[in-house]
Amino acid sequence: MAKQAITLIGGGPVGALLARLLAQRGFAVKTFEKRRNPRRGSSVRGRTINLALAERGLHALRAAGLAEHALQRSVMMRGRMVHPPDGACGLQRYGVDDSEVIWSISRSELNALLVDAAEEAGVRFHFGQALTTADLDAQRITLTDSNRVQREHDATLLIGADGAGSALRAAMNLYQPLGIRVEPLGHGYKELEIPPASGRNRFAIEPHALHIWPRGRYMCIATPNIAGSFNVTLFMPLHGPYPSFDTLRDAATASAFFSKDFPELLPLMLRFADDYDGHPVGTLATLYLDSWHIDKRAVLVGDAAHAMAPFHGQGMNCGFEDAVVLADLLADASRETADAFAEFQSIRKPNADAIAAMTLENYIEMRDSVVDPRYVSKLELGARLAQRVPEYFMPRYRMVTFTLLSYAYAYERGCAQDRLLEQLLQASPNPDDVSLDAAVSALKATLPPLPLLR
Ligand code: FAD
Repeated sequence: MAKQAITLIGGGPVGALLARLLAQRGFAVKTFEKRRNPRRGSSVRGRTINLALAERGLHALRAAGLAEHALQRSVMMRGRMVHPPDGACGLQRYGVDDSEVIWSISRSELNALLVDAAEEAGVRFHFGQALTTADLDAQRITLTDSNRVQREHDATLLIGADGAGSALRAAMNLYQPLGIRVEPLGHGYKELEIPPASGRNRFAIEPHALHIWPRGRYMCIATPNIAGSFNVTLFMPLHGPYPSFDTLRDAATASAFFSKDFPELLPLMLRFADDYDGHPVGTLATLYLDSWHIDKRAVLVGDAAHAMAPFHGQGMNCGFEDAVVLADLLADASRETADAFAEFQSIRKPNADAIAAMTLENYIEMRDSVVDPRYVSKLELGARLAQRVPEYFMPRYRMVTFTLLSYAYAYERGCAQDRLLEQLLQASPNPDDVSLDAAVSALKATLPPLPLLR
């Protein structure tokens, strides 16, 4: 029997993984990717260089037989190394031990690995081909290459994995409004770098951590690369009073700002001026759609359906979960394609909405709360409860990052747990003043046990 043909737009991390999963399930997949072949070093200057891979992403990579390959190219991050403006820096561990860590991997290395693996499974990639229009009635798409030469292709079943600025989404929306809402964050980011150190220790700072320099309305983070460098990202408001990207227009003004606000970081960034002046300011927004598909003809996945801010490090992880769910639904022969698309949306959209909301909360947590004594008290009491009654209490970050509990569940349970911690710390903000026995009784009276983990 002829394999069912699928046309995938976008060969980024989510598109390439989905392409492999579909090919492994017997589909004939063609992928059109706007950029040059990622194996020929086509990374875009200023785009995030590293991505944090967490359990959900790893689980999807395991389903594709690729987790070990990805881990070999990653650096383990055990927790957040917080660098307060004054005082000593300290590690806030993510999990209980090294079984609960996240992994820093280069976006371009991961993409190249996924494209190779998809091709090996039989996917045909067409690089340098950007979707420009899609006629959903005629089931034809138009692609344009870098020389502006246009080609048309038949496309009966279209999947859009073409990222936050999705051209397929725009074409679908013209055909039938999808209820698109974009909420800009008003904050942007710039990529900088700490090069490898000379001498015996390749890394200029602790390699096994995600470094954060929280400063209230803005922050820097740094993630390690296996070659010894760190990818540094400055997040701050785009506009408004100093400091904002509007007021730090060039390396000279930015350097004065860094020497005051990030004095120990600036000397490590040896190419600061070139990076600051050469890299663009990226903007951040959350994308919501009422509808992710048009009957059986087209569906959106990953950032094309639900782009979110990066502060939980879950955008790609969430997109990888999408890929597994969609591939499994399409491979189930008992379901019509339109039903598979509808079910995909009903399973994934509440989860995408939940992680988008948690991501926005995490921005405030990372840039501000990590040094707030009340937040640290709640973290401490939560950790004690999690240790005493792990079947009743699990920090939300842990549910999101180290389990496969749905994002929607983690959001709801996390809110309920947080309300309880607030109540328990009402009389005294010091967790040592709270009776753990009484706290456990209150917890068991308020919330059911957590689901069993797979
Ligand atoms: P993309 O990565 O955007 O890929 C889309 C692909 O489609 C690209 O290859 C593009 O060239 C191609 N394309 C675009 N238009 C067309 C067209 N018209 N025709 C054909 N092809 C096209 N997520 C995490 O999980 N962990 C992290 O630590 C993390 N950190 C982040 C840090 C920052 C600063 C940012 C901005 C994001 C971060 N993310 C992180 C989110 C993550 O980058 C995205 O969620 C992920 O890249 C989405 O993958 P995607 O394949 O859906 O989209």
